[in-house]
Amino acid sequence: MCLFCKIIAGEIPATKVYEDDRLVAFNDINPQAPMHVLIVPRTHIATLNDLDPSLDSLVGEIIRRGAAIAAERGYAQRGFRTVFNCNADAGQAVFHIHLHVLGGRHLGWPPG
Ligand code: 5GP
Ligand code: ZN
Repeated sequence: MCLFCKIIAGEIPATKVYEDDRLVAFNDINPQAPMHVLIVPRTHIATLNDLDPSLDSLVGEIIRRGAAIAAERGYAQRGFRTVFNCNADAGQAVFHIHLHVLGGRHLGWPPG
């Protein structure tokens, strides 16, 4: 089982901030901003390259949940960032897709 599948199953502890039948959101262990939440599908999908049209609604839910969590924290107006890393050039380290939701400080652009 991959690391995030173990977190979803409760075999590895994480500070969960939201969960439903399709998604789990938890705090990143090494936060890069005052808010740094990861949102993962309960189903194991290794990378964005593995998406297909049957997963479009799931991906939409992940993004919409990211915006909802940011709004709950008061970051809707000032702004926040969402990131999916894919494979080596983007620095993907855990091969179970996850949306990073970052907020609470100014985030530079372009990213490093
Ligand atoms: P990636 O580089 O794959 O886009 O992001 C992986 C993220 O997972 C990193 O931001 C990293 O800090 C986070 N991470 C790695 N291991 C753990 C863990 O055991 N628990 C939690 N909560 N986050 C983790
Ligand atoms: Zn997994």
